[in-house]
Amino acid sequence: MTDRESQFVPEEQRKEDRAKRASELTYPAKLKIRGTVPPEFLERVGRTDEEIRSVFAGERDKTPEDLESIDYCNQLGRRVGEKYGFEWVRVPPDYIHILSEEKFAEFYNKLYPEDYSRDSVGAAGAWPHLGICDVPSKYSRVNTMFHEMCHGESLQRLELLPEEDQGFFFRVRRGGLVTRVERDGKEQHFFTDINEAITSRLTQEAFEGFQDDIQPPESLREESAWVRMLKEWTRKELGMSIGFDAPRGEEELRQLEELKKKNADYNEFLRWQYAYQKEYGIWPLKLSYPNERFEYEAVLNYFQQHLPERFKTADDVHGVFIRAMMNGEILPFARLMEQNFGRGSLRKLGEQGLQWLYLEVGSEERKQGIKPKDNLA
Ligand SMILES: [Zn+2]
Repeated sequence: MTDRESQFVPEEQRKEDRAKRASELTYPAKLKIRGTVPPEFLERVGRTDEEIRSVFAGERDKTPEDLESIDYCNQLGRRVGEKYGFEWVRVPPDYIHILSEEKFAEFYNKLYPEDYSRDSVGAAGAWPHLGICDVPSKYSRVNTMFHEMCHGESLQRLELLPEEDQGFFFRVRRGGLVTRVERDGKEQHFFTDINEAITSRLTQEAFEGFQDDIQPPESLREESAWVRMLKEWTRKELGMSIGFDAPRGEEELRQLEELKKKNADYNEFLRWQYAYQKEYGIWPLKLSYPNERFEYEAVLNYFQQHLPERFKTADDVHGVFIRAMMNGEILPFARLMEQNFGRGSLRKLGEQGLQWLYLEVGSEERKQGIKPKDNLA
């Protein structure tokens, strides 16, 4: 009868609705909900099987264990979505392509020429299809899958490539926060670093925050527990704030465990990593975007400490960034930036990168309430 009555929706009901809606949506979902893509273009999003085969040439068949891993990622994604307020849409196995290291290098080089390193293990650039490198560690592969799935889930806008470029016939205008801009015929990407920091933090949280109530599948259980134990060691005993994300393979975990048994210190740990890298041309442990994550953490803490009424924890601040990335809710993110760092600061973050914001947050001038000098412009 009253407005209040008609608007009242119990918490449980809302959660159910959200889960129901998410189960009805199909990946890639954002196109359907947001409708930012012209209808004639929608038809072309569905690539033919033949096109997929050529983009992911040499991909291997997925094993039952891979399917379990994909399902595990979707369970974790659903859970972080509930926590932060976005709808995780189940990514079907057909969109995940696993390539041997050699084939992955070929695929990656087609997508991002000149950007490949042997430490590259995943790519969402053929969106909505995701390429995963078949590194020896199952845990590492599932970790990469989740990271790339987040990119896949967060796509906001697409646009057509010119007809003559047939390699990949559409490209992303905005994927998460990453915005592609063309200036003087040159392509530039804004917000890439913060987008990767958010994605990497979300991935870490998915695997560490819910490990006691969302059990990894049987095939991942042993390695997950092993990784967990050694991560704790690198954090507690070696003083590394993130530690590492995943090992390259079980052999590398074994070597790491040897270091632990010897009570190795941080310098010995570093020497092991460098020696390994020198011998094999690749790092033994995967750690995505460590600098960006370090800077991002400082930014989250800054906002939490300056706005304690609004943000009880760093996770609450993280939520504003996540919803901007996942749901396209840019306004709260923009307001947070501009109210604290002045007009034009969102643009500056895009153009100059996360490091600019990190320096702003840390500057003594700001702490003393003096307007910081614009020395990076
Ligand atoms: Zn990424």
